[in-house]
Amino acid sequence: MNSQYFLTEDQISIQELVRDFAQKELEPVVKECDEQSKFPMDVYKKACELGINAAFLPEEYGGLGVDTLTWCLIREELGTVDAGFTIGLGTNGLAYTPVSLAGTEEQKKLCASMIIDGGFGSYCLTEPDGGSDAAHARTTAVKKPGGWVINGRKCFITNGPLSSFYIVFAATDKSLGAKGMTAFIVERNREGVSIGKHEDKMGIRASETSDVVFDEVFVPDDHMLGKEGEGFKLAMATLNRTRPGGSATAVGIMQHCINLCVKYAKERVVFGKPIAKQQAIRFMIADMEIKTQAARQMVHHAARLVDAGMADPVVGACTKCFCGDSAFEIAGNAVQVFGGYGYSREYPVEKLLRDAKIYQIFEGTNQIQRVTISANLLK
Ligand SMILES: Cc1cc2nc3c(=O)[nH]c(=O)nc-3n(C[C@H](O)[C@H](O)[C@H](O)COP(=O)(O)OP(=O)(O)OC[C@H]3O[C@@H](n4cnc5c(N)ncnc54)[C@H](O)[C@@H]3O)c2cc1C
Repeated sequence: MNSQYFLTEDQISIQELVRDFAQKELEPVVKECDEQSKFPMDVYKKACELGINAAFLPEEYGGLGVDTLTWCLIREELGTVDAGFTIGLGTNGLAYTPVSLAGTEEQKKLCASMIIDGGFGSYCLTEPDGGSDAAHARTTAVKKPGGWVINGRKCFITNGPLSSFYIVFAATDKSLGAKGMTAFIVERNREGVSIGKHEDKMGIRASETSDVVFDEVFVPDDHMLGKEGEGFKLAMATLNRTRPGGSATAVGIMQHCINLCVKYAKERVVFGKPIAKQQAIRFMIADMEIKTQAARQMVHHAARLVDAGMADPVVGACTKCFCGDSAFEIAGNAVQVFGGYGYSREYPVEKLLRDAKIYQIFEGTNQIQRVTISANLLK
């Protein structure tokens, strides 16, 4: 990869370590996990031994203390092998980011220790009544002596069935809309927390996704994250910092498509010569490379802004849109390069098309990203 020039030796060595891990440990189970829709827990345990699951945690809490750019490098390497596994592991970072932004020392230690112990975290914003309108939560948190009682249902929650803790965004004053939302840390073992419907998904099937239900769940006062009424702001500040990581996984899918197409185009002989000799095929592969290079640079730029304390919602939204749209387009063209075999489950590219689709949907759909971008330009 020719963008290595600005990476540090540490970044390059962690990139190589993760590439090696992904190829040796993850690659052999990808097909099975996709077919059976199961998270490869044994592989995750090995990732925990290397500290990859908690790389973003500060060293004082047992993590590797990597910056956002390095976290993106890790996610691209894992994403080049399997986006579903990467999303399961990466969601720990999504769940921990609001804690790192607004948490007390005790809250940071609490959540970090659950991840370090091999557990998972979930970020619970979306509800059944319309994820795009995230500012109007139906889940409520009502003040009681010594704490809060939470009631509601969150849906499409990544790691829902696996998590040890949930970051729950709930309405503490419905009349205030976005300004009446507050974030809470809710451990899985609290009374009243249960797992609802499991999603049987089109792609990223190695990641587990479910409803999480909160029925009269009591959390003490010290589980409120940040200030009352600042939950929505925290939810958005989180996504502004985590979008580069999700986009990096999409870049991994794009790179995987290129790797497979280059190999297949040289091997597949039609009209007496490899299809790699056909300009139509060569140009499709060239366009994949153009978009992948551009997407990777956007991810690195967005990540470096986060690391510089300058997380930018427009840069994050542009990056998320470009990477998601490009991943879906490139995966579609990868199926095309493979012809009929691309449409067959026997070959790996149809899975990449199914996996790529999610990048136009979660962490705010690409329509919602365009709403953000245009609102900032036209205000
Ligand atoms: C596999 C998966 C994992 C997920 N993981 C998580 C998670 O861990 N945590 C979490 O909180 N959520 C998660 N989500 C939820 C995800 O963020 C939402 O699905 C997404 O935000 C869209 O919400 P919705 O599905 O309710 O669609 P809707 O809001 O119902 O939107 C439907 C369609 O209308 C469009 N639309 C809506 N409003 C507008 C508008 N104003 N302008 C233009 N177009 C609009 C949307 O773009 C979309 O195309 C996950 C989703 C999936 C599928």
